[in-house]
Amino acid sequence: MRSPAARRAVVGALFVDFGDRDRGRPPRARYECVPCNYRSDIVTGAAAVAAFTATASDTHRSVCPSRQENDQ
Ligand SMILES: [Zn+2]
Repeated sequence: MRSPAARRAVVGALFVDFGDRDRGRPPRARYECVPCNYRSDIVTGAAAVAAFTATASDTHRSVCPSRQENDQ
């Protein structure tokens, strides 16, 4: 059960707050990349959060300076 990709899998983290509809608090999400210290803006709202969580890590990975160095 070896997984070659696992060693570099944890390079970023997606934070999702699903909100609280009873209190009128909308869902929010943001993305952080540890190696390059990137922090995304916080996105708010169910549709925006859904789109963001689907693409944030891939979007950042394509521009992450730390990742590009590691892939050489
Ligand atoms: Zn990065």
